[in-house]
Amino acid sequence: MTADNARPSRVGDPLPISLVAHQVFCPRRAWIEAAGERTDSYQMAVGTALHGSTDDPATARPSNLRPVDVVDEDLGIVGRCDTVEVGPGGALTVVEYKATPVRREPEVTEPLRIQLALQVAALRSMGHSVDGQAVYFVNHRLRVPVVLGADDVEAARLAVAATRATVDAPTAPAPLEDDPRCRSCSHAGVCLPEERAEAPVGRRIVVADPDSQVVHLATAGSRASIRAGRILVHAGGEEIASLPIERVQGLVVHGNVDLSGALIREILWRSLTIVWCTGTGRVVGWCVPGSGPNGAARVQQHVASVAGRLDLAREFVGAKIANQATLLRRNGDAANAVAVMRQLQRRAAAAQTMTELLGLEGEAAANYFAAFPTMLSARSRALGFEFRVRSGRPAGDAINAALNYVYGILLGDVIRAVVACGLDPHAGYLHSANRNKPALALDLCEELRAPVADSVVLGAINNGELAPGDFTSVLGTTRLRENGRKVLIAAYERRVQGTFRHPVFDYQVTWRRAMEVQARMVLGVLDGSQARYAGIRVR
Ligand code: SF4
Repeated sequence: MTADNARPSRVGDPLPISLVAHQVFCPRRAWIEAAGERTDSYQMAVGTALHGSTDDPATARPSNLRPVDVVDEDLGIVGRCDTVEVGPGGALTVVEYKATPVRREPEVTEPLRIQLALQVAALRSMGHSVDGQAVYFVNHRLRVPVVLGADDVEAARLAVAATRATVDAPTAPAPLEDDPRCRSCSHAGVCLPEERAEAPVGRRIVVADPDSQVVHLATAGSRASIRAGRILVHAGGEEIASLPIERVQGLVVHGNVDLSGALIREILWRSLTIVWCTGTGRVVGWCVPGSGPNGAARVQQHVASVAGRLDLAREFVGAKIANQATLLRRNGDAANAVAVMRQLQRRAAAAQTMTELLGLEGEAAANYFAAFPTMLSARSRALGFEFRVRSGRPAGDAINAALNYVYGILLGDVIRAVVACGLDPHAGYLHSANRNKPALALDLCEELRAPVADSVVLGAINNGELAPGDFTSVLGTTRLRENGRKVLIAAYERRVQGTFRHPVFDYQVTWRRAMEVQARMVLGVLDGSQARYAGIRVR
């Protein structure tokens, strides 16, 4: 998309004052906010709680108005003042509340001055007299009066114009480089400033929600509902699980499990995702929040998917072959197959057509699965586990049934990561959309299959967690029993919550977080802020 055919915001669309403040802090942050990304931080959580208390008329003194909605049609802005104090003569003082951590100096920053200047300008344009403004630092219990001059008013006008230009630009502004602002930025987890530079990350930027988890509902016949902020799971009249919804970053429903309408609504309200799978791990669907971010990038994703992106496809295949070869080298006895796969990996990086690339991927898969039995332990073979040929659904043996199941869980997890970025799981670059499958999610799964899914299955079989009795066979097809599914879900969760050193960015990251980092790299390529996609290649 070029600047000429980009669709600017409509003249009548007012800009939120908070968006202008983001622009003054960092134009990229304004872009991210305008794209609808949800971010989370300590300050924002405290701020939300504060707004909750200021929104309660019962706790407001008569001389304090809280909150107050403001608009300035000439400037084209709307906003909300935390508190407006009414003086004896009727003149107003605007007070902004700020939750700066106590360890930091309370400071009236430039974005705060601009925010106050715009709130005052809006109140004046509405016919009110304003004779003061201040910032109240809640954690420090400190009120700091702010004096605004003509310079601030002019700076605020320029900031509004700059914000409109940022929001209307066809591509995202580049991230700041080695800038202290990024260290305290609530948007670092979705902006990924150092990852965008594709350099080893020297100073780790802490991202949001490190403690939240994906919840798997896998007990057949159970029902999950929500009450008093907790997800409750009942089966046979008993409560079998209970956890706070704040700790949840997504739900995966396996087989015959019922969800209450209130729980589904709450999950969507929180912009989270639910993925439904069959008892064999096949993903049957998911729900997407209506307010997903990055609508413009999603359009670019579809355009690029139709046009084709061989560069992305090469990376997906190259990283997949590299990781298969590494797993084989570490756990198997197949030096020849590993050597052949390393050659195929190099040829994939230089493939000139999709047909050539898909041929190389198929050749590598044939080598990998031919050598797969060498990764089984003597103990597992003695128990009767064997692997002859890779088969999808229906599975021809226990190992294929386990692989199919974990591939399904992995796909559900990657779909959740893709949806969290606002991308469409269906528009991909390696897999075809013609098969009506979630092509982009399948693309991103490729580099994760060996180090996550295959590794989980091999571990569960080789260390005896899975036994032949965890499977059932009917007329030559094999399925997992409920206990086998639970063993694999637990092993999968241990794996994706474990950390590894990201080979491109050189920091410790969980496999689950890495799924979103990789999806956000695709997003960066699409919105113009990432030069290229780099797949994970484990060493
Ligand atoms: S992390 Fe840095 S570059 Fe990204 S939005 Fe925040 S301040 Fe801007």
